Amino acid sequence: MKRILLSLVAIGIVISAVVVVRGVPSAMTLPFSATEEDFDNEPVELLDAETIRVGQGGWYTIAELASYKRPEGPLRVGVQIGHLDNDKVPEELKALTANTGASFGTVTERELMKQIGEKVRVELEARGVVVDVLPATVPPKYEADAFIALHADGNQNRRARGFKIAGPRRDYSGLSERLVSSLTTAYASTTKLPFDDTITRRMTAYYAFNWPRYEHAIHPFTPAAIVETGYVTNAVDRAFLINQQDVIATAIADGVMDFLATERTPNPPAGSLEIPSMPLSGTVVCAPIRADRGGTTTPECVPGLKTSDGTHYLLEPKERIATTSLPFTTTVRGRYVPANTLPNYFWFPYEVRGFIMESEIATVTVAPL
Ligand SMILES: [Zn+2]
Repeated sequence: MKRILLSLVAIGIVISAVVVVRGVPSAMTLPFSATEEDFDNEPVELLDAETIRVGQGGWYTIAELASYKRPEGPLRVGVQIGHLDNDKVPEELKALTANTGASFGTVTERELMKQIGEKVRVELEARGVVVDVLPATVPPKYEADAFIALHADGNQNRRARGFKIAGPRRDYSGLSERLVSSLTTAYASTTKLPFDDTITRRMTAYYAFNWPRYEHAIHPFTPAAIVETGYVTNAVDRAFLINQQDVIATAIADGVMDFLATERTPNPPAGSLEIPSMPLSGTVVCAPIRADRGGTTTPECVPGLKTSDGTHYLLEPKERIATTSLPFTTTVRGRYVPANTLPNYFWFPYEVRGFIMESEIATVTVAPL
């Protein structure tokens, strides 16, 4: 009995060795075809900027983003009216149907934004800008020199008031921060409304900014901002939103023009358009996953490879890696996909560049987390 157990343990060790260290055959039992180079059943993909696509629907190739040039033509600005036609959204935005926006009595955010948006259009066109007034659904891959989403907030607490302006959390244009700054300065000085510092993740992860997930969203290089113009639920703000629409429209148009007067070459995050060459060497560590995603169904540690330049890649090991065995250095080869093609892309910060379907990790300890 003891002997049988020992044999089973020995077989287990052999199998582990074969699984973990590919190319070191346990020759006595494996056919040559299992270890010969040309019988390698891991697909070998050429890493090619023309074929590697980003966005969950594969809407852009890395090559086309890397060689991006602004289309010819006059200055163009998209002015989105928050919640407008939210009952006519495409399938991918179906969840928006329920979100009709803030209201107080008969005063609705949507109607106020329609009125203010129209005034912004007139102001910008008078200054020579082409304006697209857009509903809740943004045209696919929407390209413009600036995209502004107009909203007004609401709160159970009727004393809550003020304006707030935010850009995309993942800003590939590298310009949105400046757009936000121009708008904030103009809006504060012209409207004199107080600044509300409760900028939430929901604002920075606004669906129309979320091109990795939705086709009906801005182009990665469209600078964007969401403007919460004030609180519909606050008496002072509400009166301002109803009676001072010209002032609000001028403030927004001034902010946009201030931004448009500056240099606007897209400046994507470092490394985001680079394709790594395999194999990648580095240290296996827990990838910097968002802490608030550590629920019961989410592993606390998603293994990632950190290369010497500090770049993180996600790994998909066939077995989970025991956190107690981290960190260790290794060489990884496999298929590379950009991180923003992952359904859970928004779990990770910028520095996770992509996803490596690993085929070889030399010293992994296989164990449940
Ligand atoms: Zn809104």
